[in-house]
Amino acid sequence: MKFYNTLTRKKEEFIPLEKGKIRMYACGPTVYNYFHIGNARTFMVFDALRNYLKYRGFDVIFAQNFTDVDDKIINKANEEGVSPKEISEKFIRAYFSDAESLGIKKADIHPKVTENVDEIIKFVKELEDKGYAYESEGDVYFDVSKYEKYGKLSKQSLEDLQSGARIEINHQKKNPLDFTLWKSSKPGEPSWDSPWGKGRPGWHIECSAMSRKYLGETIDIHGGGGDLVFPHHENEIAQSEAISGKPFANYWLHVGYLNVENKKMSKSLNNFFTPRDIAKEFDLENLRFFMLSAHYRNPINFSRELLAAAKNGLDRLYNGKNNLEYLLDNAKDLEPSGEEQNWTKKLGKFKEEFNKVMDDDFNTADGIAVIFDLIKYINTNVSDSTTKKTLQNAYDLFMELSRVLGILNKKEEVLDEEIERLIEERQKARKEKDFKLADEIRDDLKQKGIVLEDTPQGVKWKRI
Ligand code: AMP
Ligand code: ZN
Repeated sequence: MKFYNTLTRKKEEFIPLEKGKIRMYACGPTVYNYFHIGNARTFMVFDALRNYLKYRGFDVIFAQNFTDVDDKIINKANEEGVSPKEISEKFIRAYFSDAESLGIKKADIHPKVTENVDEIIKFVKELEDKGYAYESEGDVYFDVSKYEKYGKLSKQSLEDLQSGARIEINHQKKNPLDFTLWKSSKPGEPSWDSPWGKGRPGWHIECSAMSRKYLGETIDIHGGGGDLVFPHHENEIAQSEAISGKPFANYWLHVGYLNVENKKMSKSLNNFFTPRDIAKEFDLENLRFFMLSAHYRNPINFSRELLAAAKNGLDRLYNGKNNLEYLLDNAKDLEPSGEEQNWTKKLGKFKEEFNKVMDDDFNTADGIAVIFDLIKYINTNVSDSTTKKTLQNAYDLFMELSRVLGILNKKEEVLDEEIERLIEERQKARKEKDFKLADEIRDDLKQKGIVLEDTPQGVKWKRI
């Protein structure tokens, strides 16, 4: 298995620290708002990556944090006249609910800053004791000049960074690139007692401290959106490696940006969407499918038209699934014929191909193409006479690969044609006075959320 590692700018063979086990950390949201579809892409990529690693037999432990103390949260709380805690709790609940509708499962650990302040203070103190941090008027800064590898992730030397840095007027800092580890709090802000007085953590420190606490000094994979390479991840590396002298993470994975109609998504451009906005028009599984249809490192351009096209693709997969389910329900439990055995033997090749493309830097775009090839192959080979055993094999493989991507997990969606077909079958059964079969079909449809109504104009149906 290979990943493109931002640290080396190369695709590298993936070797976990401990055989069979993977420790993975992804930077999570600052909880002051509903997350947008750009955030959603990043969360979804790491969710699907975890699925894939598990499917490949690894034992994965995955942490994704919540930044629940931050200026944006405090500002929002002030605007709304509520406490910062009320804001962060509300949007953590919203995160879980939106994530679920996108098929994003919970991480194993969702650490919050407010629950790890002791750990963070300890971390800052260690940096200060080792000479990497200095206190100034109640704030604590990381001294980038003390960490000689600063810039190694973003591939910039300290000189380049310094010449490019904005001239910031902050007399407290020795160097404009020094970043805040701890900041003194203003009256009324959330604050904690610390060796430097009352204050709260800076942003970057939380990931270093919480990753070490929950996953250990060195982890296998650290990820986030591409915007985090500098300064956030650069700073995380500096903080963590300054203390441990060991690599903070062996593989750095960054997700490409999502733009809307070729422009950066922003509220002022009126092209800003949350999954909640999209859900008014589309099932969110379509959004997931759309995003995973691109390689995670490539930028994605979002538009309504592209999403509608993705919906067509996903509908085709659902058609394949429903067709197989229908055949399975009606199949005979016989031994497969030689011919049947022959084509079934080739199913394994699709799995091999899927693993091959996904092993190559988690190429979900090609993985989806293999799933389409697979269902096409199955469809051209199955018929009413295919045996249960063969159908089950084909179905299980199709579903196994789809589940890695987190798609096709909607509960049996019955398509209109399928309903019409069943209604016709029921009418036929009634004509032939097979009332038992007619009732069975009615019950079956009811279970799928479809109710029938016999009217003088014929049978009408509706979804419940
Ligand atoms: P934030 O709450 O802004 O810290 O973002 C949470 C995660 O979403 C981070 O990993 C960001 O890098 C990522 N992210 C933010 N905007 C986008 C975008 N437009 N496309 C992809 N990922 C993004
Ligand atoms: Zn982080």
